[in-house]
Amino acid sequence: MKKITIAIDGHSSCGKSTMAKELARKVGYVYVDTGAMYRAVTLYALRHQLFAADGAVLEVALREAMPQIDIDQRLVDGKTTTFLNGENVEREIRGLEVSNHVSPIAAIPFVRTALVAQQQKMGREGGIVMDGRDIGTVVFPNAELKLFLTASPEVRAQRRFLELQEKGEQPVFEDVLRDVNERDYRDTHRQESPLSKADDAIEVDNSDMTREQQTQHILDLFNKCIAQQ
Ligand code: C5P
Repeated sequence: MKKITIAIDGHSSCGKSTMAKELARKVGYVYVDTGAMYRAVTLYALRHQLFAADGAVLEVALREAMPQIDIDQRLVDGKTTTFLNGENVEREIRGLEVSNHVSPIAAIPFVRTALVAQQQKMGREGGIVMDGRDIGTVVFPNAELKLFLTASPEVRAQRRFLELQEKGEQPVFEDVLRDVNERDYRDTHRQESPLSKADDAIEVDNSDMTREQQTQHILDLFNKCIAQQ
């Protein structure tokens, strides 16, 4: 059976990566988390003092360092895990420090060019599920199946709120909602590869879907797409 390329884009905190991972597992494809790649470059920049005091990126130094930044994703205990120059950084790239610094890094054109080239190489043979913000528009404009995942800001804020509570934090719902709205604004208004739905992407709004309903819906879309190949 032909192995297709599946591009998944969408807003933050709408369960994109959970859904992408589950789909990859069910259909036996490789999953690539492109957000983790931007996070790994950010971690490298933090460790090498490539941010100025005002938070701006020292772009000349980062550009010189790019050839020394090797990012790799492998399965560890069945989970997609990110490695930076051979070191498992999966936990560290999810921390607050990296989250707070990743936006300016993801907005730099030479960073995007380098990571997009690597992502295209990873997906050359098909059989891949890749999630991010620009996968259906920039990385794989010819992907056979493109999904654009979304949910209302309130639903996403509620999910994030519960996640933070589970981590032992004491979030304020209004703050979490504001953060979700701000991130949406930044993701959709930045100059470089802003988040936008590809014309041929199928929008999936999971505000009122259970996880099982969503999984079934996505599998139906996958099977329909495979039948058309
Ligand atoms: O998906 P995640 O939240 O881990 O992404 C981290 C950051 O990387 C976000 O700021 C997002 O805008 C950016 N990103 C991107 N292009 C991608 C994937 C993520 O600009 N393909």
